[in-house]
Amino acid sequence: MEVIGQRISAIKASLPEGVTLVAVSKFHPAEAIMQAYGSGHRIFGESRATELVNKAKELPDDIQWHFIGHLQTNKVRAVMPYVTCIHSIDSERLLRLVNTEAERIGRTVDVLLQVHVACEETKFGFTPEEFECLTSSGILSELSAVRVRGVMGMASNVDDNDRIAADFRLIKNMYDKLVEVLESSDGAPCDTISMGMSHDYRLAIECGSNMVRIGTTIFGEREY
Ligand SMILES: *Cc1c(COP(=O)(O)O)cnc(C)c1O
Repeated sequence: MEVIGQRISAIKASLPEGVTLVAVSKFHPAEAIMQAYGSGHRIFGESRATELVNKAKELPDDIQWHFIGHLQTNKVRAVMPYVTCIHSIDSERLLRLVNTEAERIGRTVDVLLQVHVACEETKFGFTPEEFECLTSSGILSELSAVRVRGVMGMASNVDDNDRIAADFRLIKNMYDKLVEVLESSDGAPCDTISMGMSHDYRLAIECGSNMVRIGTTIFGEREY
């Protein structure tokens, strides 16, 4: 069972400098995470609030937990003490709530704005129009307990690499706009483009990603 540690080391060795790996451990047990941890990895991604909280309580304190799934507003309070970065801010309401909760417990949390460019209708996130509205509204610089670090997005789930690359480039464009908006306000560090999963992370990196979220290639297939 050294295999998880070996896979994670191989992936990290293959990533260009400056690209961060989030090891997506959702649906995998604590033992699997500890194997990855044993190889020196510390950044893990979870998509369900209760699962993240349970794992965070049980596993070492120096793990950085990234929340990558749809975050229901009634779960914000539970995850807030444990989460380092929330990739999936998909509404202004959620953004404000995360800020309020972070303030309440006296901490600051990193967040990414989830953007929706894929052809599937079911995915969460701001469309380019909604994103434009949000970023021009001024609200991003009003929040004292969240740091808006960048964007997270997914490409369409299709076989066509041109379409996938076009989606990734659009996400990168939205990121570039966000950087402009935030730079002209207060200089918060906006530096993260989270895109790319097991099947498309190499292409995502070619299109500008600097944070990849990889589950299956590291941990194997998930059993839901
Ligand atoms: C599950 C998940 C991943 C990881 O997907 P794999 O195909 O297993 O690498 C990445 N990002 C998000 C948002 C996910 O929900």
